[in-house]
Amino acid sequence: MSGPSLRAAWSDDGWWPSARRIESPNEGPRPAGAAVELVVLHSISLPPGEYGGDQIERLFTNRLDWDAHPYFRQIRGVEVSAHFVIRRDGELLQFVSTDRRAWHAGRSRWQGRDDCNSWSVGIELEGLEGQHFERAQYDALVPLLRAVRARHPIRHVVGHEHVAPGRKIDPGPGFDWVGLQRRLRWTAQRFPPVG
Ligand SMILES: [Zn+2]
Repeated sequence: MSGPSLRAAWSDDGWWPSARRIESPNEGPRPAGAAVELVVLHSISLPPGEYGGDQIERLFTNRLDWDAHPYFRQIRGVEVSAHFVIRRDGELLQFVSTDRRAWHAGRSRWQGRDDCNSWSVGIELEGLEGQHFERAQYDALVPLLRAVRARHPIRHVVGHEHVAPGRKIDPGPGFDWVGLQRRLRWTAQRFPPVG
């Protein structure tokens, strides 16, 4: 699809039709006039390193059983969300309209601008920082990023580790930034420096 037809494929209120929609209550309005210029990529798995369950969608909809695993006690009561989650098999879930503010980046800053949640789209890849991600996940991520950029004036795609250095390390060195850039054919300036 070209840019205009990608733009038209979105629902008027910011939902991407090829994603499975699971609405999260952990969201709010964006500040007036906040142009959505950033995508923040994350990795998440619950418990860490275990894939395929429904715990991520439970966490993002405040339905996680905090006593079901020792790790969950460490995060008991957190209220978080992301706009999108890409499962290991490439399945795409959407929890928050891209017109709304999701709660994924926390205390964060990119190029002098604070509070990335207010002006970014958050995408979680099911995975563990430092580990690799599946081909099917990149196959879902590439068209999703094209679609997001067709709707919002995205200038940069970065990792949580880049907007919260010293505090967050996801998606980590297992994420293929170079491969992503090649597939999207966007300029290197849109991505974090890869060294
Ligand atoms: Zn993160």
